[in-house]
This record gives sequence, C-alpha cells and structure tokens, in this order.
Amino acid sequence: MASTPTPNRTPEIKYTQIFINNEFVNSVSGKTFPTFNPCTEEKIADIQEGDKEDIQKAVEAAKEAFKIGSPWRRMDASKRGNLLQKLGDLIVRDADYLSSLETLDNGKPYQNAYATVVASGNSLRYFGGWADKIQGKTIPIDGDFFCYTRHEPVGVCAQIIPWNFPIILTVWKLGPALATGNVVIIKPAEQTPLTAIYLAALVKEAGFPPGVVNVVPGYGQTAGAALSGHMEVDKIAFTGSTEVGHIIMKAAAESNLKRPTLELGGKSPNVIFADAEMGSALMWAHEGVMYNSGQVCTAGSRTFVQEDIYDTFVQKSVELAKARVVGDPFDPATKNGPQIDDEQFKRIMELIESGKKEGATLECGGERIGDKGYFITPTVFSGVQDDMRIAKEEIFGPVQQIIKFKTMDEVIERANKTQYGLGAAIFTKDIDKAFTFSQAVKAGTVWVNCYNILSPMAPFGGFKMSGLGRELGEYGLQQYTEVKNVVVKIPQKNS
Ligand code: NAP
Ligand code: MG
Repeated sequence: MASTPTPNRTPEIKYTQIFINNEFVNSVSGKTFPTFNPCTEEKIADIQEGDKEDIQKAVEAAKEAFKIGSPWRRMDASKRGNLLQKLGDLIVRDADYLSSLETLDNGKPYQNAYATVVASGNSLRYFGGWADKIQGKTIPIDGDFFCYTRHEPVGVCAQIIPWNFPIILTVWKLGPALATGNVVIIKPAEQTPLTAIYLAALVKEAGFPPGVVNVVPGYGQTAGAALSGHMEVDKIAFTGSTEVGHIIMKAAAESNLKRPTLELGGKSPNVIFADAEMGSALMWAHEGVMYNSGQVCTAGSRTFVQEDIYDTFVQKSVELAKARVVGDPFDPATKNGPQIDDEQFKRIMELIESGKKEGATLECGGERIGDKGYFITPTVFSGVQDDMRIAKEEIFGPVQQIIKFKTMDEVIERANKTQYGLGAAIFTKDIDKAFTFSQAVKAGTVWVNCYNILSPMAPFGGFKMSGLGRELGEYGLQQYTEVKNVVVKIPQKNS
C-alpha cells in the first residue's frame, strides 16, 4: 500500500452548498448551519441548510434523471460502470485533500481517514464492475410461454449517512445504487457534511448526467424526515441509531411503503477462549473497541474472556489502553482523536459513570483530556455483569467492558442476550469451537481470530434490531433492484 502523504491541517473549504442537478445552489430558505472541528470546537464553515423545499427540488431532479428515455436510463450498463470507476479514480486522485477534510470535520486520525478514502475509491471501482453484470433469469414455466426476469432499478433512492465514517458510508450506499441504475439523494450527517459535498463535485467531473446524484446537507428531523416520508422516494437506506431506524421505518410505512435498508446499532460480543493466541487476541480486542474512538457500529464492546486467562487479559488490556495515544488527529502518532460532539461526549461520560455506580471496576481512563475538544482517555472496565448498562447499551466511545465466562454454552447464551446482532467474534485455536460459535451466534458478521474486517465485496448488516437488509457485495445489489417478471406468448405452428 502507498504510504500516507503529509496532511494539510487547513484544507481550503471549496464547497458548502447543496448539490442538485449537477449544480451547487443555496438553500431555498436561505438558512445555513455550522460544521465544527471536534478538536477545537471552532466553526469550520457555514453550510447551506437543506430542508423540505430543497428535498422537493432534489426529488424533482432525480425523477427527471430517471425518466424512461433520459440519458441515464439509455446509458449502456458498461458506460455506467465506467463512470463509477472514474468516480473511484477521482477520489483516489484527491485522497490527500479528502482525507484532510475528513480529519478536520470528523476528528479521526489522518492515517485512518486516508485509508478509508482510498478504500472508498476502491469500493466504487468494485461496484463499477457490477454494472454490466446485473442479470435476470429465463424460467421454463408451463405452457407456450417465454418467461424471463429483469432486475430493474428501484428509482429515487434516499441515503441518510451518519458522522462516524462519512465518506466511506456514503460511497457504500452510492456504489450499489448507481451500479444498478438508480438515482440518488444523499443527506450527510449534520456534523460531517464536507466530504460528501466535495464528492458531489467529483460526481459532476466524472460525467454523471444531471440529477443522478444529489447531495442535500441538513438536519435529520427536517431534511431526513422529508426524505423518509416522501411519496416519490422509492427506497431509503439509513445508517445510524436504532432509535432513528424506528422513525425511518415508520415514516416509510406511513407514506408510500418505500423499501428500507437499515444499518443500526450494536453491542457486539468478542469472545476470547483460554486457548487463543493471547498477543493477537489482545490486540484485536483492543483495536476492535477503541478504533475510531469507539465510534463504530460493530465495536466489540463486550469482551468476553474465559476465566483461566481473565486476570492477565485485563491487566494487558489496561496496558494497551494506557499506551494508546489520544490527541491531535493530524499527528501521525495519534491513535484516537476526539469524540464527534458534545452530545456524544456527555453520553459516553454518563455511561462511564453508570458503570462505576453499578459496581464495575474502572481499571483505567474515563476522563476528559484538556478543556477544548471532546477527548476521552481510553477506558477499561473489569468485573462487568450482563445486566449493567455498560454491558447492554451502545456506548459509541473508547470504553472496553471485559466480562468473565466459563463455558461455550454459557457464552453463547450470554452473547445472544441482547437486542442487537451486528457483529461477533471468537478467538480460539480450536476449529470445533470456532464453528460451534459461528453457527450459534446471532450476528450479521462473525470474525474468527480477527475483528472488524469489512469489504465492499462481502455482505454487511444486522440480525435483530441491528438492522434490516444487507449492504455491500452481491447481496447489497439486491436491495437496489426490483425484479420484473415478463411472460411472452410463443405462437405455435398449429394454433
Ligand atoms: P442518528 O441520529 O441516528 O443520525 C444518523 C443520521 O440520521 C444523521 O444523518 C441524522 O441527521 C439522521 N436523522 C436523525 N433523525 C432523523 C429523522 N427523524 N429522520 C431522518 N433522519 C434522521 O445518530 P446520532 O444522533 O448522530 O448518534 C446517536 C447514536 O447513534 C450514537 O451514540 C450511536 O449509538 C448510534 N450511531 C450508530 C451509527 C452506526 O454506524 N450504526 C452511526 C452513528 C451513530 P443529523 O445530521 O441531524 O443527526
Ligand atoms: Mg442525531
């Protein structure tokens, strides 16, 4: 992999407007909202604030772009694939700039931002490859008929993005939607709109026809709600909290039954057996919960450790947490930047307090660093019981719960005792244990002797209240097509 270039701490903010019909425009209301640097709490820029009227404009543009006979609908599938690959290339071309923008707006370490930006480009190249491979079937139904299926685009797709991985989560929704020929309206998170708006400029440069991709920054309760309740939006894909997932699905149900894909919260179990390779399990478990300052939906925030190795595992996890460098995300030594905003910061601190009150042992961390920015010291709790809030609720911060277990049967039951089912992992050298657990755990992704390995090529999503539908890979494409069955009468010689 190419080495990470030197970051630019003060990237020029080139675009701050709403993107509709391949043009940057101001909001209808004239309103703007600020986006902040979570390291300094200072404003980076004022962004045009999309609302119901702007969403309406975007829907009109998208509908027009999707009309039968439009350039987009008439475009060869192979050309569509080329455009996606071009967009991927442009992201990689501007990876340096986009990563600086992402770090500034989100606070994640620059090298992590850079890796996700390059991965975003590669994801689009991957989805570009699918565009001319979306195939139906011919079906030998009874009688003199020729029966075939077409996998047609769904239409106007709304995509609501959270702030924890702004660019890659945008691209993971955009790629499959465009590969299958849909038109898209993206609402980035209010905290992190900058990379999605810049991506819009690259969409135009790549040569997509007007209206195919629209980006409307704004708030969830206004712009987001206008999308989820819109009668002419055909599909909605959402990543964020389970709480808002409920709201989105309800809005879809109460409007036009638009198809929802929901990628929601988690409280993923990471199970370490005594026979695991200790050094590796420790490292994966630590990264699995601390990465991105713990702001990861799949975070392995319930670390179950078998009793024989429990005390040593806790002690070594504490050493790792204490050594983790928290601070300036533009500094190459930094592993954790700040949390995204004051609301998240307070929520995490409140959950840490609840852990202490409910009797878990705070081994390290749990403190604010400095008085500006939302920095928290990496935190480890031991002696955690299943009924404590820190073992049940999604914390979305750098907080590791280490929980003791004895047997496989017991840990399977406890791992599954949650409303969530997003990720799960097992560390063991015993292949029987690995298969037993992988089969029994209720989770959309299971990792064996690794953690948080995600790829645009493999499906991603949750069991239970962690979501609905799958994104990514071939499975992810299914969410973006309607299957049309066509039956043609075949004339017979003697009929
Ligand atoms: P959130 O409210 O679910 O935000 C996610 C996205 O949904 C944002 O773009 C948000 O807009 C939008 N939204 C909010 N309310 C909406 C509504 N009524 N209709 C349509 N869209 C709406 O998440 P959050 O408040 O940022 O974070 C809260 C918790 O959610 C976190 O602590 C974490 O547990 C979880 N979370 C999970 C993920 C994940 O990857 N699964 C990501 C982020 C957060 P705004 O920009 O106005 O917020
Ligand atoms: Mg919110």
